[in-house]
Amino acid sequence: MAKPEATAKLRHRRILLKLSGEALGGDKGYGIDLRVIQQIADDVAKAASMGAEICLVVGGGNIYRGLNAAEGGIDRARGDYMGMLATVMNALALQTAIERAGKKVRVMSAIPMPTVCESYIRDKALDHLAKGRVVIFAGGTGNPFFTTDTAAALRAAEMGCEALLKATQVDGVYSADPETTPNAHRYDRLTYGDVLKQDLRIMDGAAIALARDNGIPIIVFSIKSQDGLTAVLQGKGSSTTIESGKAA
Ligand code: UDP
Repeated sequence: MAKPEATAKLRHRRILLKLSGEALGGDKGYGIDLRVIQQIADDVAKAASMGAEICLVVGGGNIYRGLNAAEGGIDRARGDYMGMLATVMNALALQTAIERAGKKVRVMSAIPMPTVCESYIRDKALDHLAKGRVVIFAGGTGNPFFTTDTAAALRAAEMGCEALLKATQVDGVYSADPETTPNAHRYDRLTYGDVLKQDLRIMDGAAIALARDNGIPIIVFSIKSQDGLTAVLQGKGSSTTIESGKAA
């Protein structure tokens, strides 16, 4: 278990980190790039050593997306199940990398596959966290027509997380695409309402609404920067926080 003095330095103790599948694909954006995964895993392990209790939800877009399947003639629900299976592959890759970084990890799938990993049981997941294990939630919500963003908000609420950290390719939410608009500015703070009304597409609407209804702030930060997670947890680096109240 973490030492209290290490814990005291963190802005949030129990967090849920949402990684998109693309983040595991590195520059290619598809497949699994072990070098990229190890960098993320090292950061996760470092945050865990500082006393953070870490839940992870990983997407599957680097391998498969239900919507694309629908275009190819596979019906949407079946394609979504294929997408959910892709998240399990990513979860196992992440598990390996985080274990290599020296932390104990449990993968829990919303779709039972007992020879591969544990099935999701809330009480068991809470127990893992209390024992200092990193928990990776795989298989999304277990239901088609949802996304892993919604799974992230759902698990964050179930686990009593103090924040949902959404890792992206840029260090927050911008007024325009910073790649193409040089004078785009990064917001320090936004409200859930701003994100929904302006359709800012940081996460899908269901995920934002679930976070809002459960009072869970969403912190958008860059996964590309070295030690980005630990920096955010210590209140350093740049990010955008989405929460209730007045936007800055
Ligand atoms: N998916 C689903 N239900 C869920 C979560 C995911 O059906 O609760 C499917 C859906 O087809 C989705 C795919 O899994 O396209 C991969 O998840 P997502 O697109 O959220 O991954 P990311 O964009 O984060 O890589």
